[in-house]
Amino acid sequence: MTNLLASLKCTGENHLIIGVSTVASVRINTILEAGANPILLAEEDADEKHFTTSVKSNIAENKLKVLYKPLSIDSIKTVLTSAGRPEVDHIIDRVFVTLPISQAQLKAQIFQECKKLRIPINISDSPEFCTFTLLSTYTSGDFQMGVTTSGKGCKLASRIKRELTNALPSNIGDICNKIGELRTKIQEEDKLELQNIRNRDHLDSIGEHDDDAVTTSKLNALVEEFNMTQEQKKLQRTRWLSQIVEYFPLNTLGDVSLDDLTAAYHDHKASSEIEEPNAKRQKISEHAPKGSISLVGSGPGSVSLLTIGALHAIHSADLVLADKLVPQQVLDLIPQKRTKLFIARKFPGNAEKAQQELLSLGLEALLRGERVVRLKQGDPYIFGRGGEEFNFFAERGFTPVVLPGITSALAAPVLTNIPATHRDVADQVLICTGTGRRGAVPNLPEFVKSRTTVFLMALHRVVELIPKLVEEKGWDSNLPAAIIERASCPDQRIVRTTLVNVAKAVEACGSRPPGLLVTGYACEVIFKQNSEKPEPWVVEEGCESANGSSLEPFLKLVTSYKKEDLIGESSISQTPPPELIST
Ligand code: SAH
Repeated sequence: MTNLLASLKCTGENHLIIGVSTVASVRINTILEAGANPILLAEEDADEKHFTTSVKSNIAENKLKVLYKPLSIDSIKTVLTSAGRPEVDHIIDRVFVTLPISQAQLKAQIFQECKKLRIPINISDSPEFCTFTLLSTYTSGDFQMGVTTSGKGCKLASRIKRELTNALPSNIGDICNKIGELRTKIQEEDKLELQNIRNRDHLDSIGEHDDDAVTTSKLNALVEEFNMTQEQKKLQRTRWLSQIVEYFPLNTLGDVSLDDLTAAYHDHKASSEIEEPNAKRQKISEHAPKGSISLVGSGPGSVSLLTIGALHAIHSADLVLADKLVPQQVLDLIPQKRTKLFIARKFPGNAEKAQQELLSLGLEALLRGERVVRLKQGDPYIFGRGGEEFNFFAERGFTPVVLPGITSALAAPVLTNIPATHRDVADQVLICTGTGRRGAVPNLPEFVKSRTTVFLMALHRVVELIPKLVEEKGWDSNLPAAIIERASCPDQRIVRTTLVNVAKAVEACGSRPPGLLVTGYACEVIFKQNSEKPEPWVVEEGCESANGSSLEPFLKLVTSYKKEDLIGESSISQTPPPELIST
C-alpha cells in the first residue's frame, strides 16, 4: 500500500522538535524554509554549548525558540497544548521527535498523545510512530521534487533523487516560473471569457491548480482549425501553452514567451496561403550557393531507431525544422550552436498555419543557401504530409532528398509484442487515420477478421470512432485492441483491452501522447488475457529497448565530429529568423 503524497503549506505554523540532535538541526532548517516557526524542546539541563552551529546561529538570529523542560510525558503534554498559535487554541501544529533509541517508551507515549490531539507526528527511525514522513527533496525556485522509498532506505531515496535531479535541466526553477507567469498572464487577460466558459462547463476546470489533476486525455481534443467555436478561440493560447509544455524539449521551456503564443498566431490571418519570401530576398539568393533540403524520418522516438542516414542529415544541417513529436533524445543529437532548430507549432486548431510557417521558413533558408532538414516523426510519407512538402519545395526548384524512417505504425506493435501478421491469425495490415482532413471523421474501414489495423491520430476521438466501427462497419466489439503510447520511449505505455473498452480505458488512464490504437486478433498472439479473471484492461509501463545507454559511447563519438568533417565545406548561414530556437 502506498501513502498519499502531499505538499504541505506550513507558513506561520508552530512546529515542535523534541530532542537535540543533528537530525533535529536539519529539521529546524527545513521547517524554517517552509515558513513555519520551529520550537526546540530540550532537556532542562541541556547545555547550548553542545548544540550544532546551525542551531546556535538560528537561536542567535531569533529564528528558533528553545524551551528547556524535563523530557517527561507530562511536561511534553503541556507544551503540546500551550506552545501553539492562539488561532488553533495553542495546540502545536506538527511534531518532530529525534530522541535516542533508549527513549522508546517516551516516544510511544508522545505518539499516542499526538494522535489523540490530531497533531501530525514524525519520530525519527520509528516508522511505526509516524503519521507522516519526510521525502528526500530537491528544490529550485518553486520547483520541488520529493522521493520516498516508504521507509525502505533514506540513502537509496537520496541517491534516486540525485539521479533524477541530474536528468533535469539546470534551469528547472526558471522554467516553472516562466510557465507559471505565462499561465497567469493568459488567464488574467482571458479572465472574463474563461469565467463565462467555466460557469457552463465548470467540472473541467476543477482542480486545475493541482499537479495531480492533469486530465491529459483532453490535451489533443479535436479542434477544427477553420471551424473553431468562440470558446475554442478564446482558450487557444491556454491550449497552446499546454501543448508546448507537453511536447517541447524541457530545456527550451524557459524561453517560451507570451509573444510566441500571441504575436505569431493571435492576429494571424486565417488565409491558407504560404508566405513566399519577398522579391528582395529572392535577389540576394541569386548570389548565394544553392540550398538543399531533405525530408528525414526520425523513427518513433528512441535514438536507437534513427537511421544512420538520418543521423548524418541532422549533423549536416544548418537548419532543422522538426515536428513537435520528435522527442528530446533525437533533438539532442542536433549539433549545438551550429545548427538552428525550429519546432513546428502544430497545436490543435493550428495545424494548417503551423505547416505554412514551416514551409516558409524552409524556403527562406533554402534561398539563403542553407542545408535544411525537415525532421519528421516516424516515416515522412506515413501521415506526415511528406508528399505535400516534397511537391512544395520541388515546384520552387529545390527537389528534396527523402530518407525513410521507421514508422510508429509498424514499430509500436513490434515493441509491444504484437506480431502484425501471424499465420492463421492476421494476413494483412492496415494503417489508417482517426482524423480526416480538417478534422472530419475519416472513411472508416470495413471489418476484416484476419486484419491488424493500426489507427494513428485516433485516441482523442475513440468515443466517436468506435461506435461507428461497430455499428456501421460490422466490427466485433470484443476484438482485442491495444493502446500504445510513446512507443520506444522510456515512458512507453501499453493498455491492452478490447474494442468495446477502449474509450473507457482512455478516459481512465488519461493520455500520454503520441499514441496509437492497434486492433485485431494479433494483439493476443503473444499476450494472453487471464481467462479466469479477465480484466477490462491491463496496463504495462516502460520499454525495455528504450534504454539507449549502450548507444552512448557511439552517440558521443558522432556528436563530437565537426560538421565540416562530415559534409566538407560549411555552407553559408545568415541570421536566423527571431523565433528560431537555437539548440
Ligand atoms: N509519420 C509518423 C506518423 C505521423 S501521424 C509515423 O510514421 O510514425 C502522428 C501519429 O503517429 C500520432 O497521432 C500517433 O498516432 C502516432 N505516433 C507517432 N509516434 C508515436 C509513438 N512513438 N508511439 C505511438 N504512436 C505514435
